[in-house]
Amino acid sequence: MTDIPADYLGTRTQYLIEQDQPLSLAQAMALHRDGKFRAGQQPILNFGIGSRPVWLHLEVSNPTPTPLSFYLVAGVTWLDRLDVYVAQNGQTQAEIHTGDETPGAQGATPALGYALPLQFQPGRSDIYLRVDSVDPMPLPIQLMTDWQLSASKLFFAHVYGFLYGFLAALCAYNLLLFAGIGERSYLYYSLALITIILGNVAYTGHGLAGIWPNHLLFQRYVILTVMVAYSAFGLLFASRFLALEEHAPKALKAVRWFSGLGLGAMALALLTNSHLAATLVAFVFMSLFTAGMLLLGILAVRQGRTSGRYFLAATVFGLIGAASTVLAVWGKIPFTPETFHALEVGLLIETTLLALALAYKIRQYQQANLDAKRQARQDPLTGLYNRRGFLELAEPLWNAAEGGGRPLSIVVMDIDHFKQINDQHGHATGDEALRQVANVLKRRGRKSDVVARWGGEEFILLLMETTLQQAHRRAEELRQAVAEIKFPAGHGVFSITASFGVAERGPGTSFDAVVRNADSRLYEAKRAGRDRVCSAPTANGAPAAESLAADS
Ligand code: GH3
Ligand code: MG
Ligand code: MG
Repeated sequence: MTDIPADYLGTRTQYLIEQDQPLSLAQAMALHRDGKFRAGQQPILNFGIGSRPVWLHLEVSNPTPTPLSFYLVAGVTWLDRLDVYVAQNGQTQAEIHTGDETPGAQGATPALGYALPLQFQPGRSDIYLRVDSVDPMPLPIQLMTDWQLSASKLFFAHVYGFLYGFLAALCAYNLLLFAGIGERSYLYYSLALITIILGNVAYTGHGLAGIWPNHLLFQRYVILTVMVAYSAFGLLFASRFLALEEHAPKALKAVRWFSGLGLGAMALALLTNSHLAATLVAFVFMSLFTAGMLLLGILAVRQGRTSGRYFLAATVFGLIGAASTVLAVWGKIPFTPETFHALEVGLLIETTLLALALAYKIRQYQQANLDAKRQARQDPLTGLYNRRGFLELAEPLWNAAEGGGRPLSIVVMDIDHFKQINDQHGHATGDEALRQVANVLKRRGRKSDVVARWGGEEFILLLMETTLQQAHRRAEELRQAVAEIKFPAGHGVFSITASFGVAERGPGTSFDAVVRNADSRLYEAKRAGRDRVCSAPTANGAPAAESLAADS
């Protein structure tokens, strides 16, 4: 055939699975002549994991009078041994021996398998392939012209350039987040991403073709080891992201046992250099891992956690992709370009969703942080600032007033005989009184006032742009407003009074001194009979106003 079908040639090939002894080319040719080969049933044949070596035969006819050159593009790059023979009239014309157990792995081509240049003389030629691999053995076979091969290579260069760029950026971003925030979810996520990139580089053949063509032992185990490492990091990430320690300690324990078992089994396989054992461990562990991730997601969703929903959605996409590829490579479902690359499509969706989920976590942290900060500055009973919040806000305002030489006054206020209110009406009524007084202070205040609960039944106000006289008037208004509050108690109502001390910032006085000054005026108001406002003398010594008693 001279017209090159773009298709995979599985249904045009015949195959024979070797039984006990390795066959020579001559023996295989003889068996083919005797009709012992069977016709391929699917476009891409797949002999699964741990298959016996397979012989394939493909007939090519060149009707032109000159030799034709084509590339045989076959297999996947992780095949252990691939022997290719071209024969004409029973005479071997060319042979190529490659595979990832052969140094240099001739023809290894990322994402395409082995691309081997062949020449076909005029007339009929026979291609024989012998494939021997412990690893899964999907065998896509194509014949391509030089131009078709270049186009395919270019296409995959773009695809993987995009994929690795995306994953590397995501990885760097999450490592930075880990460095910045210290939350281990980001670290585990980055490590899982690194194993994803390494695994993909290995199984597409980018590693074998360009990075480690001569490191046979590394090539033999890298994909399998990465499958286990990825699963372990994935589980660590899930445990952390879903806060298993807190929400599902039993699941965490199971996860730890399972990871330990998988890593141990893999280590044993590596130490004994047992390729088949490593392959089985990797595939079984990864299958169980995917099921485990799904279960963890379902568990978290059933516990009603939003992070669980993100996680489950991401995992399901990743899982569909990974399961398709693993099952296809394993030979359980048809191996097609779609099922082979489903893993990568699933990965893109999964990593994107998880990045979103982690962003959502950041927002949760921020919110928690803000809440904590607000709580640290707020009095829970009245909702006013507490002493700490007041001091934090007061400092810059004080500095501004001092720098600009602007007036600023402090009012301190204490409820009169509050202990009696508690004693007579109960502590809960006392609390309610505090809340209502706080409300009056808030409602009557200006926007620029800073109002805080200074202590038990004591309040403080910082009044910007307010002179002593103005502050005194404001305090007097507040005194009346507090006295007007009616509290229901038993059959009737009761009311309360409060005493006020006022002081103004003077040139060179410190903030503490002004607060102390207002405090002494409050003490003075108490001594003078309570329910009144007392002001400090102004800077020039004149009293701001007479101390006013409500009933005078
Ligand atoms: P004075 O007029 O001299 O200020 O008398 P007083 O009873 O108001 O002052 P004192 O400082 O002796 O008592 C304050 C009381 O306020 C004592 C305490 O039980 C009560 N108190 C402090 N914080 C709270 C609170 O959060 N809720 C309630 N219900 N009572 C509080
Ligand atoms: Mg009091
Ligand atoms: Mg008091």
